[in-house]
Amino acid sequence: MSNEAVIARIEELRAILNELNYEYYVLDNPSVPDAEYDRYMQELLRLEEENPELTTEDSPTVRVGGPVLDMFQKVTHKAPMLSLGNAYNEGDIKDFDRKVRQGTGAEHISYVCELKIDGLAVSLHYENGRFVQGATRGDGVTGEDITSNLRTIKAIPLRLTEGVALEARGEAYMPKSSFQRLNEEREKRGETLFANPRNAAAGSLRQLDPKIAAQRNLSFFVYGLSNLEGRTVFSHGEALNLLGELGFKTNPHRRVCQTVEEVIAFVKEWEEKRHVLDYEIDGIVIKVDDLALQESLGTTAKSPRWAVAYKFAEEEVTTKLIDIELNV
Ligand code: NAD
Repeated sequence: MSNEAVIARIEELRAILNELNYEYYVLDNPSVPDAEYDRYMQELLRLEEENPELTTEDSPTVRVGGPVLDMFQKVTHKAPMLSLGNAYNEGDIKDFDRKVRQGTGAEHISYVCELKIDGLAVSLHYENGRFVQGATRGDGVTGEDITSNLRTIKAIPLRLTEGVALEARGEAYMPKSSFQRLNEEREKRGETLFANPRNAAAGSLRQLDPKIAAQRNLSFFVYGLSNLEGRTVFSHGEALNLLGELGFKTNPHRRVCQTVEEVIAFVKEWEEKRHVLDYEIDGIVIKVDDLALQESLGTTAKSPRWAVAYKFAEEEVTTKLIDIELNV
């Protein structure tokens, strides 16, 4: 490709990805399957890597999420809510492991493998054991205050079993069975259908009237703990156990793996049996267990160096994407 052709393609890909981000993150109404979006993103990443002089600070490759809606109060996250680097095959997982070992100088690393729930990331703040504020990830730096809607989710404790202060991060999602029922009811009423459970969950939580979220039977899995006061934890696995004791719903299908081979076995196992679950997962998140090692690895502008998301291979699906009105 000539230099002009590369510049033109990069611009074209950025325009496509910006538009798709807007549909996905602002309208909660994607027009293409995720795998197609991921292909554009991979192509842009490759072109920018090959032509570093053409990278810009506002490229979709360096940005997280989408713009925040004006209808909610804005919340600045204490620490940015980042995205995750991706792995698509065994080789990518081994590369990740190699980089982690090089970056830490450790010969042996324990990883926690978790299901990657396909919902939307939210951050929950607790003071004296009480839920005080919840926000969407937004653009990673600033999110939307959706506290009233989150209060309607029964899996989110309003009061913890201990009076601690903390920030919990996790995924709000709509179970597959609730999604099916919701769309059946909407079809009967002649209303537009939701494209998938993720968009139904996101659309429900970004409504001004909390009664709507309350009717939608949403749930929540917690997967991260930070700014904990009054207690100390040393590993991610320990943090998840503590969150469970404090009253949060943690996902039971997690495993601490001592080798990269064990990680790959976990990934293969769940890629096969993902359909037994009543919620959608789109991959496996692999995290360094030791919090001191996480800290020493740090983050890039877009994602932590201590975690990676293995994405399941694309499945043959025919999605019927229909307009979703924001205020339905
Ligand atoms: P990501 O989905 O690849 O990974 C980060 C997210 O994983 C976190 O924000 C969190 O919400 C989630 N997650 C779920 N389970 C987790 C766990 N156990 N631990 C930690 N995190 C967990 O990255 P992203 O930046 O959120 O979004 C990119 C995704 O959105 C891609 O899959 C992309 O295909 C899709 N997308 C699609 C379109 C489209 O038009 N179809 C547009 C934009 C984005």
